Amino acid sequence: MINEDYKAMLGGKSVIRELSEYATARGKEIGYENVFDYSLGNPSVPAPSAFTHAMVDLYEHGDPVSIHGYSPSLGIPEVKDAIAESLNTRFGMTYTGNHIFPTTGAAGALAHAMRAVTKPGDEIITFAPYFPEYQPYVNGTGAKLTIVPADLDNFQINFEAFEAALNPNVQAVLINTPNNPSGAVYSAETLRRLADVLRDKQREYGHDIFLISDEPYREIVFDGGKQAYPAKFYDNTLTCYSWSKSLSLPGERIGYVAVNPAATDADLLVPMMGQISRGTGHNCPPSSIQRGVAKVLGETSDLSVYETNMNLLYDALTGIGFDVVRPGGTFYIFPKALEADANAFCMKAKQYDLILVPSNSFGVEGYFRMAYCIDTDKVKRSIPALERFAREEYG
Ligand code: PLP
Repeated sequence: MINEDYKAMLGGKSVIRELSEYATARGKEIGYENVFDYSLGNPSVPAPSAFTHAMVDLYEHGDPVSIHGYSPSLGIPEVKDAIAESLNTRFGMTYTGNHIFPTTGAAGALAHAMRAVTKPGDEIITFAPYFPEYQPYVNGTGAKLTIVPADLDNFQINFEAFEAALNPNVQAVLINTPNNPSGAVYSAETLRRLADVLRDKQREYGHDIFLISDEPYREIVFDGGKQAYPAKFYDNTLTCYSWSKSLSLPGERIGYVAVNPAATDADLLVPMMGQISRGTGHNCPPSSIQRGVAKVLGETSDLSVYETNMNLLYDALTGIGFDVVRPGGTFYIFPKALEADANAFCMKAKQYDLILVPSNSFGVEGYFRMAYCIDTDKVKRSIPALERFAREEYG
């Protein structure tokens, strides 16, 4: 008999994917350039030429047997050393290569981090609004995901609700900053307070609580700001990173877990992730891509288009009368819908060829997400459609 649990998941397809498929089909009717598709968080700028050159150089001059050979199961040592050194320089940490576990993107990193510090039946807490894939990621581990309601004023952490949700069964807390879908960048003050609460609760419960920090948007921060480094605030931190967004390499599937050297059992966690891989069938990202990213650790794609698009949309949306928290980073914005039912709101927007994602799957009612990793020209052309939509449906 086939597995009924996975079969049941077929009925609950991702809303974001469905909207993206609709946008593609609509594009075939009216030309995709006329569909204001804000559904998918797929980078719209190319990888930097330094990455292309690094890969060409590797393929032309490297040893083909090792380039295409198996990676050691804990990752290629010189790649891990280079990542550790880059993090130490940028964030004042003390990683060695032994604290770095290369993974297939942030998804692979989260899969290993979660399994390393929880077991089936444990509880993992995260904060709304949150990336909807967290639910299947956590389900796959056998742990239970608990959602803390959002702080709608600024999308930092709702500490009152967080403290109410904490209990001795919580083994890990999952954060994502800069945040998908809100664009919020957790401040140093938020991270300090979070760390204080976690330290208190570790003492009270008499066991570790790990912070799993999902940071694929770390470099996409606006107004010349920087994302404070969460592991700097709390010893028991597993940092999950991906080059999907910063180097525009989502299809190459490359990221890592960095285990804070000050964490409990820090020296065991990466080797344990190697054991977890044996069960997940994951087995390290491709050798060539590990080597390629290690050569361009100081680089990013030209990310400036995201800030340009954010400013255009923020000004347009506030001008129209939307209630919206200005994003500090990412390529998402998360305004309040003009009616309580976000699904109905986004359905109506489709009639104006505006593809907006309702907020329900992010754990918040009555909002919507726009992924503005699209051409600036299209963002500009979408503004009259947004104005018309708001006026005709809600004016
Ligand atoms: N976490 C968040 C918050 C994301 O937005 C994404 C992808 O969009 C991921 C994790 C997964 O990243 P990756 O594609 O690198 O696995």
